[in-house]
Amino acid sequence: MDPRDLSASHALNLEHYWMPFTDNRRFKAKPKLVVAAKDMHFTTAEGKQVLDGLATLWCVNAGHGRPRIVEAIRRQAGELDFAASFSLGHPLAFRLAERIAATALMGMGHVFFTNSGSEAVDTALKMAVAYHRLRGEGSRTRFVGRERSYHGVNIAGISVGGVPSNRKAYSGILLAGVDHLRHTHLEKNHFSRGQPAHGVELADELERVVARHDASNIAAIIVDPVSCSGGVLIPPQGYLERLREICTRHGILLIFDEVITGWGRLGAAFAAQRFGIQPDLITFAKGITSGAVPLGGVIAKDSIYETFTGAPGAGIEFFHGYTYSGHPLACAAGIAAFDTYEEEKLFDKPNTLGKDFENGIHAFKGLPHVVDCRNLGLIGAVELASRTGAYGERAFDAFEKCWDKGVFGRPVGDALAFCPPLIAEKKHLHQMFGTVAEVLKTLA
Ligand code: PLP
Repeated sequence: MDPRDLSASHALNLEHYWMPFTDNRRFKAKPKLVVAAKDMHFTTAEGKQVLDGLATLWCVNAGHGRPRIVEAIRRQAGELDFAASFSLGHPLAFRLAERIAATALMGMGHVFFTNSGSEAVDTALKMAVAYHRLRGEGSRTRFVGRERSYHGVNIAGISVGGVPSNRKAYSGILLAGVDHLRHTHLEKNHFSRGQPAHGVELADELERVVARHDASNIAAIIVDPVSCSGGVLIPPQGYLERLREICTRHGILLIFDEVITGWGRLGAAFAAQRFGIQPDLITFAKGITSGAVPLGGVIAKDSIYETFTGAPGAGIEFFHGYTYSGHPLACAAGIAAFDTYEEEKLFDKPNTLGKDFENGIHAFKGLPHVVDCRNLGLIGAVELASRTGAYGERAFDAFEKCWDKGVFGRPVGDALAFCPPLIAEKKHLHQMFGTVAEVLKTLA
């Protein structure tokens, strides 16, 4: 039987797949199934076209089914389906790392591959601690995270992350040595276009954490330059710069979690470049392959890599890695995605389409339930007032109604988030925002 055949004689049994981050009962009662995707659109099981307004899950930056990427995966699967990277290598992993190193900031020339953003986060945190230890500062083991930041779902990631629902059930098993800065989403910044004016001083909380624990005990701070899964929170002007200054002053590593903000989302390859800030480590995933094959990783400053490779003694320098680190299919997809981004100058798209995107988002102001609109690059959100005792329900209803009308966005709490593929054109924005506006007018 062809597993893709959904005809009546091969009806799909929805019972056995335990879906991630999904209300399984609700989904299975009213499934949204897609069977194909091309460029900006999904095709549903019923044959309907749905505009992908979120690059699926903030990943598909080059659009769906792009020929170079599809062909590269196909070719690679036939030539070398798998070779592990533990004391063995294959050329594509080195080629892709070289390409990333040439794209990242100067002095950040070393890349460690993982399979996902969550693994990238754990890798970066371990790197930070091991790095300090190698330099004789083994007491630096504490981390600093931030409220409402999302750093994946592994234990270390939820420990430094600040999304309460992801942490609630695991309170007793989270990492002990973690402090959280306050989030930066201030009411007086509502309806800001681009980076909000207020809140730079929230970065100074890091000084208070240093005063509390002493810098000699702190390994790293991790922040997502725009907290997307935490609700699309845009950093206040000067905030990230100030974090950098404080980290430098105290020898604390600054980790930018660029799992979403990387790969052109903000109008440069990485948010670090967009803001002109040099972090010590960058985590990435998602857009590296335009979502076509799972791949993540950490970009490290040369001085960090050299601390490992320059340590006395022979043998493995970093006892860490995943069976599928640098998987050939993922690397082939990553290189082909890079080619597509470069040929089509997609990293520049937020700079050319950004104003239309911003105007589209802010046109929601004044519609029923709208309490905030915010945007940066090609990331944005409209926030709705919550129903009493039913946080998230109004945005979820909007999401379902938009889907029925052929537009896919994502509810994050009571915000509806937008993050279209970088191949989007004005007509797509028009359809996306027009549909959402219609839905908002009908929403209870
Ligand atoms: N870090 C950030 C900033 C993310 O947005 C995400 C996922 O959305 C992750 C980490 C986790 O990535 P993954 O789902 O690939 O594990």
